[in-house]
Amino acid sequence: MTSESPQTDSPATTAATLQVWIDQDLCTGDGLCVQYAREVFEMDLDGLAYVKDDTDELLLAPGAKTPVREDLVRDVIASAQECPGRCIHVENIATGEAVAGPSAPAGPVGN
Ligand code: SF4
Repeated sequence: MTSESPQTDSPATTAATLQVWIDQDLCTGDGLCVQYAREVFEMDLDGLAYVKDDTDELLLAPGAKTPVREDLVRDVIASAQECPGRCIHVENIATGEAVAGPSAPAGPVGN
Protein backbone atom coordinates (compact mmCIF):
# COMPACT_ATOMS: atom_id res chain seq x y z
CA MET A 1 0.00 0.00 0.00
CA THR A 2 1.14 3.42 -0.80
CA SER A 3 0.00 6.40 1.14
CA GLU A 4 -0.96 9.45 -0.82
CA SER A 5 0.93 12.56 0.10
CA PRO A 6 -0.95 15.67 -0.90
CA GLN A 7 1.10 18.31 -2.63
CA THR A 8 0.43 21.79 -1.37
CA ASP A 9 2.43 23.80 -3.87
CA SER A 10 -0.24 23.83 -6.55
CA PRO A 11 -3.26 25.56 -5.04
CA ALA A 12 -5.06 25.96 -8.36
CA THR A 13 -5.38 22.27 -8.96
CA THR A 14 -5.28 20.77 -5.46
CA ALA A 15 -8.87 19.68 -5.45
CA ALA A 16 -10.42 18.51 -2.22
CA THR A 17 -8.44 21.06 -0.28
CA LEU A 18 -10.52 24.00 -1.48
CA GLN A 19 -13.74 25.47 -0.17
CA VAL A 20 -16.03 28.18 -1.49
CA TRP A 21 -18.43 30.72 -0.03
CA ILE A 22 -20.51 33.62 -1.28
CA ASP A 23 -20.92 37.09 0.17
CA GLN A 24 -24.63 37.48 -0.45
CA ASP A 25 -24.47 41.20 0.35
CA LEU A 26 -22.72 41.70 -3.00
CA CYS A 27 -24.53 39.10 -5.09
CA THR A 28 -26.29 40.60 -8.12
CA GLY A 29 -28.50 37.58 -8.61
CA ASP A 30 -27.56 37.06 -12.25
CA GLY A 31 -27.05 33.33 -11.78
CA LEU A 32 -23.77 33.05 -13.63
CA CYS A 33 -22.25 30.86 -10.95
CA VAL A 34 -25.06 28.34 -11.32
CA GLN A 35 -24.29 28.08 -15.00
CA TYR A 36 -20.69 27.26 -14.13
CA ALA A 37 -21.33 24.75 -11.36
CA ARG A 38 -24.91 23.89 -10.54
CA GLU A 39 -23.60 21.15 -8.24
CA VAL A 40 -22.15 23.85 -5.98
CA PHE A 41 -24.28 26.96 -6.46
CA GLU A 42 -28.01 27.53 -6.45
CA MET A 43 -30.32 30.52 -6.46
CA ASP A 44 -32.72 30.76 -3.55
CA LEU A 45 -36.15 32.36 -3.44
CA ASP A 46 -34.57 35.64 -2.35
CA GLY A 47 -32.89 35.85 -5.75
CA LEU A 48 -29.39 35.41 -4.36
CA ALA A 49 -26.88 32.62 -4.86
CA TYR A 50 -25.89 30.19 -2.13
CA VAL A 51 -23.51 27.25 -1.94
CA LYS A 52 -24.67 23.69 -1.37
CA ASP A 53 -23.18 20.88 0.63
CA ASP A 54 -22.34 17.43 -0.72
CA THR A 55 -25.90 16.26 -0.09
CA ASP A 56 -27.22 19.00 -2.38
CA GLU A 57 -28.60 20.98 0.54
CA LEU A 58 -28.59 24.74 0.26
CA LEU A 59 -26.50 26.42 2.95
CA LEU A 60 -28.41 29.56 3.80
CA ALA A 61 -26.26 30.87 6.62
CA PRO A 62 -24.46 34.01 5.46
CA GLY A 63 -20.92 33.14 4.43
CA ALA A 64 -21.47 29.39 4.74
CA LYS A 65 -18.60 27.44 3.21
CA THR A 66 -18.63 24.17 1.31
CA PRO A 67 -15.77 21.96 0.10
CA VAL A 68 -15.16 21.90 -3.64
CA ARG A 69 -15.17 18.51 -5.33
CA GLU A 70 -12.09 17.76 -7.38
CA ASP A 71 -13.98 17.58 -10.65
CA LEU A 72 -15.58 20.98 -10.02
CA VAL A 73 -12.53 22.98 -9.03
CA ARG A 74 -11.96 24.53 -12.44
CA ASP A 75 -15.58 25.56 -12.83
CA VAL A 76 -15.78 27.00 -9.33
CA ILE A 77 -12.58 28.99 -9.81
CA ALA A 78 -13.87 30.24 -13.14
CA SER A 79 -17.11 31.31 -11.53
CA ALA A 80 -15.21 33.26 -8.90
CA GLN A 81 -13.19 34.98 -11.59
CA GLU A 82 -16.25 35.87 -13.66
CA CYS A 83 -18.70 36.67 -10.86
CA PRO A 84 -20.10 40.17 -11.58
CA GLY A 85 -20.54 40.86 -7.88
CA ARG A 86 -17.00 39.78 -7.06
CA CYS A 87 -18.48 37.90 -4.16
CA ILE A 88 -17.44 34.26 -4.70
CA HIS A 89 -14.53 33.37 -2.47
CA VAL A 90 -12.48 30.22 -3.11
CA GLU A 91 -9.94 29.42 -0.45
CA ASN A 92 -7.61 26.74 0.80
CA ILE A 93 -9.31 24.83 3.60
CA ALA A 94 -6.12 24.19 5.54
CA THR A 95 -4.58 27.63 5.32
CA GLY A 96 -7.54 29.90 4.64
CA GLU A 97 -5.55 31.43 1.81
CA ALA A 98 -7.67 32.96 -0.93
CA VAL A 99 -7.23 31.07 -4.19
CA ALA A 100 -9.76 32.85 -6.38
CA GLY A 101 -12.16 35.72 -5.96
CA PRO A 102 -11.80 39.29 -4.68
CA SER A 103 -9.44 38.37 -1.85
CA ALA A 104 -7.07 36.33 -4.01
CA PRO A 105 -3.61 37.63 -4.92
CA ALA A 106 -3.47 39.91 -7.96
CA GLY A 107 -2.51 37.18 -10.38
CA PRO A 108 -5.61 35.18 -11.27
CA VAL A 109 -5.40 31.46 -10.71
CA GLY A 110 -5.60 29.12 -13.64
CA ASN A 111 -4.82 29.61 -17.25
S1 SF4 B 1 -22.10 34.87 -10.20
FE1 SF4 B 1 -21.76 36.07 -8.32
S2 SF4 B 1 -23.17 37.81 -8.46
FE2 SF4 B 1 -23.86 36.25 -9.94
S3 SF4 B 1 -25.42 35.04 -8.84
FE3 SF4 B 1 -23.44 33.99 -8.59
S4 SF4 B 1 -22.60 34.81 -6.64
FE4 SF4 B 1 -24.25 36.20 -7.30
